Amino acid sequence: MQLILLGTGCPKVDYNRFGPANLISTINAKVLIDCGSGVTQRLEQAKISSTNIDALLLTHLHSDHVVDLYQLIISSWHSYRVKPWKVYGPKGTRKFVRSIMQAWENEREQRILFEQRSSINAFNIIVQEFNKYGKIKIKDLIIEYFEVDHQPVKYAYGFNFNHKKKKITISGDTKPCNNLMKFAQNADILLHEVFIEGELQSINKMRTSKTLHNVKSYHTSSKDVGKVAKICQAKKLVLTHFVPPKFNEKKLINTIKKDFSNKMIIGKDLLKITA
Ligand SMILES: [Zn+2]
Ligand SMILES: [Zn+2]
Repeated sequence: MQLILLGTGCPKVDYNRFGPANLISTINAKVLIDCGSGVTQRLEQAKISSTNIDALLLTHLHSDHVVDLYQLIISSWHSYRVKPWKVYGPKGTRKFVRSIMQAWENEREQRILFEQRSSINAFNIIVQEFNKYGKIKIKDLIIEYFEVDHQPVKYAYGFNFNHKKKKITISGDTKPCNNLMKFAQNADILLHEVFIEGELQSINKMRTSKTLHNVKSYHTSSKDVGKVAKICQAKKLVLTHFVPPKFNEKKLINTIKKDFSNKMIIGKDLLKITA
């Protein structure tokens, strides 16, 4: 099973760290997790065609994780995708997908009529919304989804990908959360988000100390992420969703090493890791 980091950034624009997106693949299956800004460009760079992605999973509906959904769909059509899209996401996903497709409806209909391509199946989007916990089988991948704590976002999820006795856990956006620590136990790879302490300062009235306090409060801080990985007994910790996207790497590594002594990787866009 392979994990490819397609975007390791956050809402703040950074040309090295695109918006949140990851791909898990086996020889048979390809599952995309989130579709942040620049996901289609990164897929192209990783030489993965959107024509044969089996499913898209959404951790939650924050814009940084879903902003390129339409770009993904339309570019898959332009790449001759002939099968429908399966999208799995939290409550509200159906409404979100419907609204996005509606916003572009006139433009799309004109294109379909004018460009005369052989299939319009790529625009057929089958949405399934998550319960509190569940399992999804996609070819030879067994995926578990479970709730994480990203309050005030009501519906936010983490995932376990299981294949041939290996487990990759994806935290999604979350503060330190018991449910994540329960489901991530003994993960071969724990891909976890992080808010890096001491890198952001308040700026006048735009980014107040309250802003910083609130943003930090629904993420996992660099002081806590090593503790979380240790409790999970993760074999390997891979960090992503860096807030902010530019930071002192050495300092971050040293902070986490205090709590977590197994292998740790500072994620980068297009990095491939095999479990
Ligand atoms: Zn996010
Ligand atoms: Zn979020």
